[in-house]
Amino acid sequence: MLETQDKSHGGEDLSAGRASSDGQMLEVRPGLFLGGAAAIAEPNHLKEAGITAVLTVDSEEPDFKAGAGVEGLRSLFVPALDKPETDLLSHLDRCLAFISQARAEGRAVLVHCHAGVSRSVAVMTAFMMKTDQLSFEKAYENLQTIKPEAKMNEGFEWQLKLYQAMGCEVDTSSTIYKQYRLQKVTEKYPELQSLPQELFAVDPSAISQGLKDGVLYKCRKCRRSLFRSSSILDHNEGSGPIAFAHKRMTPSFMLTTGSQTQCTSYFIEPVQWMESTLLGVMDGQLLCPKCSAKLGSFNWYGEQCSCGRWITPAFQIHKNRVDEMKTLPVLGPQTRKT
Ligand SMILES: [Zn+2]
Ligand SMILES: [Zn+2]
Repeated sequence: MLETQDKSHGGEDLSAGRASSDGQMLEVRPGLFLGGAAAIAEPNHLKEAGITAVLTVDSEEPDFKAGAGVEGLRSLFVPALDKPETDLLSHLDRCLAFISQARAEGRAVLVHCHAGVSRSVAVMTAFMMKTDQLSFEKAYENLQTIKPEAKMNEGFEWQLKLYQAMGCEVDTSSTIYKQYRLQKVTEKYPELQSLPQELFAVDPSAISQGLKDGVLYKCRKCRRSLFRSSSILDHNEGSGPIAFAHKRMTPSFMLTTGSQTQCTSYFIEPVQWMESTLLGVMDGQLLCPKCSAKLGSFNWYGEQCSCGRWITPAFQIHKNRVDEMKTLPVLGPQTRKT
């Protein structure tokens, strides 16, 4: 593959970090370019560099004018503002798939945003993390060595650390991603008319059998099923997402880690039966949907756990209001997938 890249560059020296002749693009890897809006303003520049795949991470979709060397150009546009609150994380998998696919086909790829400093740098860093199996810090440092002005915003830094913690692949069922999604929704919460349905865990009382994880929590008073262990959003004292990196925590694991024993509540993701309670208010009580026993509380601005840790947003169930029920492993084929 590198040979074909060489040819497309007329056999020039392809050492990393060589700026292309027009100075608008930087070749960070053979056949992999980083740039700003200027890099695509003049299609001839793309042609000269042999670029036939362009990933745009910007607020506006580029208009590749027909002709002028853009025939056969493959492009992907990911709308994103360069703001810490922008959700780039959810798009990283398809960005990286686009780059990898194009490179596998022997195409030279340009990743660009407007200034070539933050959004494109974040995507490129993620690509280096995944393909070179580097930590976020190492990949970012490598890129800044090549391009000293590279500086992604702090929100993207945080998102890349979460990406690393998930093994450089977005795992929507992971605690890390669930927590991230909740925080993203919370940032917009006061203006929301409705909450995204995918935010809610399926009500365990609506599922007759076939829970794939073994523990179910029921109302201590009326035995109504309330949530599953997979809904518990674990937290550790004073640890960032990296601390969660390699352990998909289970409740039994939590009990063995010192700080967790101080927690008198479970912090969980919202469950379907909470929906009507949560909307339109910032905080309130969580009551059992069957017997109305008080189970805990919620607060979109967050609540502090008994261990001292703030959780935002917080959906808190007191441990002494629920009973833990171990369910037997399911035998035979799964009839229902949640
Ligand atoms: Zn109850
Ligand atoms: Zn705690």
